[in-house]
Amino acid sequence: MAGGKCLALIAHDQKKDDMADFARAHRDILSRWKIVATGTTGGRVLDAAPDLDVTRLKSGPLGGDQQIGALISTGEVDALIFFVDPLTPMPHDVDVKALMRLAIFYDIPMALNHATAIKLLPTLEA
Ligand code: PGA
Repeated sequence: MAGGKCLALIAHDQKKDDMADFARAHRDILSRWKIVATGTTGGRVLDAAPDLDVTRLKSGPLGGDQQIGALISTGEVDALIFFVDPLTPMPHDVDVKALMRLAIFYDIPMALNHATAIKLLPTLEA
């Protein structure tokens, strides 16, 4: 993935409406970034804000979280906004943990809920 700063977006199923609203409300700031997203999240973001530059990866349970982790490890993802559902057990919980571990290890900004994403946004304007 060449050039430009890259933001990764992921939302668990119960948080996808929230992510669509977030993308629509903040599309001006988000439009300055290349975006990578897990498959279904990326589709919802594009429906909400069709002008955004979104690359859709695999769906999370099918490897999308691991793809984003790999992009973090190669320095191709600069920040992560991940709307996590804390109430639903998931088959790919280990992938979610691995992704968060890499985001921590490589020390990229990572927002795990809406309130933190709002705080992160102004730092994405640069
Ligand atoms: P999805 O993946 O955007 O393809 O639903 C996200 C997830 O549930 O990890």
